[in-house]
Amino acid sequence: METIFSKLVVIRDPKLRKVRDNLRKLFLIFTENEYNRLTSLCNIYLSKINLTNSQMKRFKAVREERYMLYRALTHSICLCAVCSSSIKDMDYVPSGKCWICVDCLDSIKENKKKKEII
Ligand SMILES: [Zn+2]
Repeated sequence: METIFSKLVVIRDPKLRKVRDNLRKLFLIFTENEYNRLTSLCNIYLSKINLTNSQMKRFKAVREERYMLYRALTHSICLCAVCSSSIKDMDYVPSGKCWICVDCLDSIKENKKKKEII
């Protein structure tokens, strides 16, 4: 039987959990700050009426960089793709190329069982 979930990462030691959670928080803070900086840059370009070709090229590069940062965050193990929790054990979902927390995973499995019964 093929499973759609793999790479379940569970940390049982409370001290290691705290280290993991703090590293995730640091990553989230850094990402948020960088995302906000890139958004401010985009807004500066958008506030101008006419952009030169080089300004337009730079604007598109900044916008792409911001998108890639957001995509990296939403596909990282730092955030659950369903509930956005950053303090739970996660499981990788290859079909979605994202991580889902164990609570959301249980909920998904329960719903899948219910659908199979019906
Ligand atoms: Zn979740």
